[in-house]
Amino acid sequence: MQACNYIQGQWKKATGEKTFEQRNPANLAEVTGEYADSSQADTLEAIAAAHEAFGPWRAKSPHERQAVLKRALQLIVERRDQIAVTITRENGKTLAESKGEIDSAIKEMDFQIAEGMRMIGKTIPVEIGGTLAYSTREPRGAVGVIAPWNFPFNVPCRKCVPALMAGNTVVFKPASLTPGVGIEFTRAMADAGIPKGVFNCVTGSGRNVGGVIVGDPRIKAISFTGSTPVGKGIQKQAADNLTPCQLELGGKNPAIVLDDADLDLAVAAIAKAAYACAGQWCTSTSRVIATKGIAPALIARLSAEIEKIQIGDGMDPKTGMGPVCGAEQKTNVMAYIRAGLAEGAKLQPGADVASLSTEGSCFIKPVMFTQVTPKMKIAQEEIFGPVLSVLTVDTFEDAMALANDVPFGLASSIFTRNLSHALTFMENTHVGLAHVNIMSSYKEPQLEFGGVKESGSGLPEAGTSGIHFFTEHKVCYVKYR
Ligand code: NAP
Ligand code: MG
Repeated sequence: MQACNYIQGQWKKATGEKTFEQRNPANLAEVTGEYADSSQADTLEAIAAAHEAFGPWRAKSPHERQAVLKRALQLIVERRDQIAVTITRENGKTLAESKGEIDSAIKEMDFQIAEGMRMIGKTIPVEIGGTLAYSTREPRGAVGVIAPWNFPFNVPCRKCVPALMAGNTVVFKPASLTPGVGIEFTRAMADAGIPKGVFNCVTGSGRNVGGVIVGDPRIKAISFTGSTPVGKGIQKQAADNLTPCQLELGGKNPAIVLDDADLDLAVAAIAKAAYACAGQWCTSTSRVIATKGIAPALIARLSAEIEKIQIGDGMDPKTGMGPVCGAEQKTNVMAYIRAGLAEGAKLQPGADVASLSTEGSCFIKPVMFTQVTPKMKIAQEEIFGPVLSVLTVDTFEDAMALANDVPFGLASSIFTRNLSHALTFMENTHVGLAHVNIMSSYKEPQLEFGGVKESGSGLPEAGTSGIHFFTEHKVCYVKYR
């Protein structure tokens, strides 16, 4: 099953039985599995299956769809520990983080299954008499879900479950760094008895699988999480068919810390949001903007937190931080660390750069840059690794200006006891998720999740808009007298 796609209710090898290998980022010599390296023809077959299955699936009652998805949810609950191992071996995050990801997926799935039971429309009084006017929400058709490797289980779940509950069928493409996790999600759907063609999974490249899904006129919506450049390309390609896109992209998320902040609270929140999952949350805190009265103490306390983080294989219960996900990711993050030094920022701990990463695996020691200035690459660009950039400012107003002075707008935080500053921040922070005295990554399933500026486009995921994205609205006028 590992080296197979799931198309039309069958586990099938790719054309020519082509496969690709996935390797453990904690030990690149270890091949964790072989997966279908799908051709464009394989992808087209999955699209055709989803297209054909749409009519019968939409005709089912929400109760029937709920029954299947509840069975899938139950299987995920039962398989939690085993799926967590697959996440850790492919992504590198610690086993505790992998279990946390599945627990979060379970909560989101539970919420979205319930959301799908109340596809609420409206009734509206109208000017002409004897007429009932109302609106309904209907599924769009076959939809494409293109997933990233950083939350390889939770993100597909967050997208596919509302899509399916609303009556759509799905073609799902996992990231090539985490195909096994995508297969685990698919196995839960298959074993739950999802009808043939309703849910299809195709592994393989962004070009042969992702690009074909996006360009096909039978695909009626695309939900994508990943990098901003790929997201922009998807939106352009989808424009040819006016296919609606939901894009969850990168971030450069700030945490402002004012002189009056609760230092213990700020340190704990920033250390977690900066270094959990080796800094590879899209909502990770990657910039600290501190006013100068608190900056020295904050830097000292964060340095102490960094020293405590034990890096190692995520399977070892003593490990606090696993490797970054893949050799390319390691190269990119190390290039940012070198760029920060070349631009004159100060690296803490001040080890020599070569000793920060390892050969043959993807470990990078957690670091922090101080003396960062606003236009440095490390202050502007998404690093997506265990690297925090600290900027120091004179006033709250300066902090606010810097917080917004990046192309991204995903998440932000402020740490302060001053109500006026907190609410002024909430009013002016240009992001999709804003927090006061809470880490930038905090979210709950009943609330929407998405970014603005170059961090996202289209309706946000989760909450109630998650399922709205996968529906079309129809307004109906009925003259009865
Ligand atoms: P990516 O290249 O944007 O990939 C995300 C997904 O899109 C993967 O499934 C990928 O497939 C697919 N894809 C790639 N090219 C495509 C195309 N032309 N058309 C359709 N689909 C395509 O992201 P990445 O390479 O995994 O990571 C690069 C950077 O993205 C990271 O360093 C980080 O900055 C950002 N990122 C952000 C998030 C987030 O949550 N916002 C998540 C992950 C990554 P393949 O895996 O087969 O290439
Ligand atoms: Mg890529």
